[in-house]
Amino acid sequence: MDLYEYQAKELFAKHGVPTQPGKVVTTADEAFNAATSYGVPVVIKAQVKTGGRGKAGGVKLAQNPAEAREKSEQILGMDIKGHTVLKVLVTPAEDIKEEYYASILVDRSQRKYLAMLSLAGGVDIEEVAAKTPEKLAKVLLDPLTPLSQQQAIDLAQRAGLSDSLHQSFADLFLGLWRVFSEEDALLVEVNPLALIADGRLVALDGKVTIDDNALFRHPEDAAFADAATVDPLEERAHEKGLHYVKLDGDVGVIGNGAGLVMSTLDVVSYAGESHGGAKPANFLDIGGGASAQVMADGLEIVLSDPQVKAVFINVFGGITACDAVANGIVEAVNLLKVQGKELKHPLVVRLDGNNAELGRDILRKANIPGVELVDTMDSAADRVAELARKAA
Ligand code: GDP
Ligand code: MN
Repeated sequence: MDLYEYQAKELFAKHGVPTQPGKVVTTADEAFNAATSYGVPVVIKAQVKTGGRGKAGGVKLAQNPAEAREKSEQILGMDIKGHTVLKVLVTPAEDIKEEYYASILVDRSQRKYLAMLSLAGGVDIEEVAAKTPEKLAKVLLDPLTPLSQQQAIDLAQRAGLSDSLHQSFADLFLGLWRVFSEEDALLVEVNPLALIADGRLVALDGKVTIDDNALFRHPEDAAFADAATVDPLEERAHEKGLHYVKLDGDVGVIGNGAGLVMSTLDVVSYAGESHGGAKPANFLDIGGGASAQVMADGLEIVLSDPQVKAVFINVFGGITACDAVANGIVEAVNLLKVQGKELKHPLVVRLDGNNAELGRDILRKANIPGVELVDTMDSAADRVAELARKAA
C-alpha cells in the first residue's frame, strides 16, 4: 500500500524524523484558514499517489492566505498523471538551501535492504542513477541487523555530505530506519531531504510503501486505506478471506493455488485473442481446502462483477480431491439458488488430478444447466472465451 505524502509525514513525525507540520484540506476556504493559522508563507501541495507533482504544477508557494486560497483553487481538481487531486497539504514554507535525496528499500536481487543518499536531490532520482550513478551513494544492509549510527555516517561520507551535517543526518536517517523496520515498509523515500538556510535537515517530501503482507501486525494502518481507491468487490472478497483481485476483462476465473490461477489468466488471455479479445475479469484463488462455502463465496463474488459474462473454474485436485470440489460446485449453485441468485452465466469447469474422473461424474449427474465440463485447460479456456464473447 502506497501512502500519501501527508500520511508518510505522520509516520516520520512518529519516529522522530524532522518534517514540517501540515494540514490536509479539501477546499480553498480551508486552505485559507490553514494559511491564516500558520501566519507565514505556505506551500500548497497536491496529495496524489504519484511523483512529479512539482513539475505538473501541483506544488505552489503562497505568500499569504489569499494566495493560498487562489493556489488551492488551481490545484484542487487538477489531473496529475491520471490522478484527480481531491486533497491538498498546506504546510509552512521552508527556506531551502540545498536539496538531497535519501531512501531505504528492499533490494530483492541482493536479498538485502538498500540505503541510498545523493546530494543531487529534488530532481528525478532515476535520471541521476542512470546518467551520474557516482552521485548516488549506496550501502547494503543486512535485513537481520538494525541500522547502526556508523552505517549512516558511512553513507553520508560516501555521498560527500559536509562533515558538519554528519551527525544530524545520522539522527534523521536512523529515524527513517525506524519507519522502515517498525512500520514494515518496503520503501521509505525522501526527496527532497532539504538543508534549510538555518542549517537544519528536514524531510520536505515523503514516500512510504507499506508491505500489505504485514498489515495484520498494524491494525492502526487501516486508517491509511483509501476508501475511494479500494474496489468494493475486492473489499467484500477480503472480508470473506478470499484472495481476489479485480481485473478488466469478462471471463471470471476461479482456481485452486496461486500458480494455477496465474497460468489460467495467461491461457484465458491467449484464448481470448481468437475470440474477440475476451480477457480475465479477476484473479481468485480458493486455496487448498475448497469447501462448498468457499466455492459459493467465490462464485458469488465473481458473478456479482457486472463485466463477467462467463466463468472458468480450473481445479487441479491434490489434498482436496476433485470429487470434493465437484460437490462444492453443486452445493454452491444450490446455496446461491436458495439465496435467490440463479446461475446467470455459463460455467466452464476443468477438473484434473486427484479423483478427477469421480468429480466429473458428480457434475455430469448433477446436470446443472449452464455448467460445461471440458477436460483440458487450453480447450476449457478456449470454450469460456467463446461463451463470454457470445454473451457480450
Ligand atoms: P514532487 O514533485 O511530487 O516530488 O513534490 P515535492 O514535495 O518534492 O515538491 C517539489 C518541489 O517543490 C521541491 O523539490 C522543492 O523545490 C519545492 N518545495 C517543496 N516544499 C517547499 C518549501 O517548503 N519551500 C520551498 N521554497 N520550496 C519547496
Ligand atoms: Mn519529491
